[in-house]
Amino acid sequence: MSERTEISEIGEFGLIGRIREMAYHGNKSTIKGIGDDAAVIDNGDDYLIVSTDALVENVHFDLGYVPLRHLGYKAMAVNFSDMAAMNGIPQQVVVALGLSNRFSVEAVEELYEGMRLACEKYGVDLVGGDTTTSRSGLFISVTVVGKVAKDKVAFRKGAKEKELICVTGDLGAAFMGLQVLEREKQVFQANPEMQPELEGKDYIIQRQLKPEPRLDVVQELARLGVTPSSMIDISDGLASELLHLCKASGLGARIYEEKIPVDRMTYEVAREFELDPITVQLNGGEDYELLFTMPQEDYEKLRNHPDISVIGYMEAGSTAVMVTKQGNEVQLQAQGWKHF
Ligand code: ADP
Ligand code: MG
Repeated sequence: MSERTEISEIGEFGLIGRIREMAYHGNKSTIKGIGDDAAVIDNGDDYLIVSTDALVENVHFDLGYVPLRHLGYKAMAVNFSDMAAMNGIPQQVVVALGLSNRFSVEAVEELYEGMRLACEKYGVDLVGGDTTTSRSGLFISVTVVGKVAKDKVAFRKGAKEKELICVTGDLGAAFMGLQVLEREKQVFQANPEMQPELEGKDYIIQRQLKPEPRLDVVQELARLGVTPSSMIDISDGLASELLHLCKASGLGARIYEEKIPVDRMTYEVAREFELDPITVQLNGGEDYELLFTMPQEDYEKLRNHPDISVIGYMEAGSTAVMVTKQGNEVQLQAQGWKHF
C-alpha cells in the first residue's frame, strides 16, 4: 500500500525541506539554492539573485477590496523585497498570469498599470512572462532577477553570537490594515448602503494594500558602511523570520518588547479589535520590513537612526526569547501565515 502524507502534517516549511532534498544541484555557479530569500548565482563580477513569489486570488488577496492597480503594485513590491533581503537590487521581472473570463482587457491593464508604477519607482524592467486561462480566479506569479556585490550579499545564515538584531520601519500595520478591510467588507455585505469606515486608518490600509520594498534601506546601509551579517524580509511576521535567522545561523536570539517598533495607529486599532498589540507586532505578516544582524562595532553608525531599531542580540542556543516590558521571558513561536 502506498503511503499518503497530508501536507498539513509537515507544513509549508516541512514541504520545502522535502523539495530541497530532491532538487538537482550540479552547477558550480549555484552559490545558494533553496532556503533563502533568493537564489544566488555567480555571475563573474557580481552575484545574480533570483526569486519568485505567487499571489493567488482568495488566498493572498480579495478583489472585493483590493483594487487591481494596487494588486499589480504589491505583486512587484513583494518580489523586490526579496532582493532587498539579500542586500541587493532588482533589475528585471517576468510575470505569469492565470486569468478567467471574468477579467476584461481593461482589468488586465489596471493590473499592469500598478506593476508599471512599481517598476518605474524602483527602476525594474518588465521583460517577459506567460499568459494562460484559469478556471478559478486570478493567479499572478512574478519572478525577479537582480544583483548584489559579492562582498555585500546577506544570507539568512551568517549571524554571530552577540551581534545586534535590527529591524526597519514599524511592525504590525499591514496586518491591522487587513483586519480593517475585512471588517468593512463584512459590514458592506450585510448592508450595501453602509459606507466603509476607513477614515483615519489610511496608514495601516496603505501598508496592507501598497507595501514598499525597503530598497532605500539597502542604499542607506551602504552609505553608512554597514554590511548586514544576515538578513531576511518580514513577510510572515517578526517571530517567524527571526526564527529563520536563528536556525540558519545556528544560534538563539533575545529581543526586547519595548524596543520593537510600532506605529501609534497600529497600536490603537489593535486595541480596538481587542488584540494584544505585541502579538500583532510579532506575528502580523506582510510588513515587508527588513530584519538583519550586524556586529556591535557598527552600533554607532545606526544609533538614533529614525528608521532602524536595534531590538536585541544573538546568543548561543536555538531558541528566540522576548523579554517583556515587565521583565518576563517568553519563547517565540513561528505563527506567521498558515497556508495549509
Ligand atoms: P519567502 O518568504 O522569502 O518568499 P519562502 O518561505 O517562500 O521564502 O521560500 C523559502 C525557500 O524555499 C526559498 O529559497 C524558495 O525559493 C524555496 N521554495 C519555496 N517553494 C519552493 C518550491 N515549490 N520549489 C522549490 N523551491 C521552493
Ligand atoms: Mg523573503
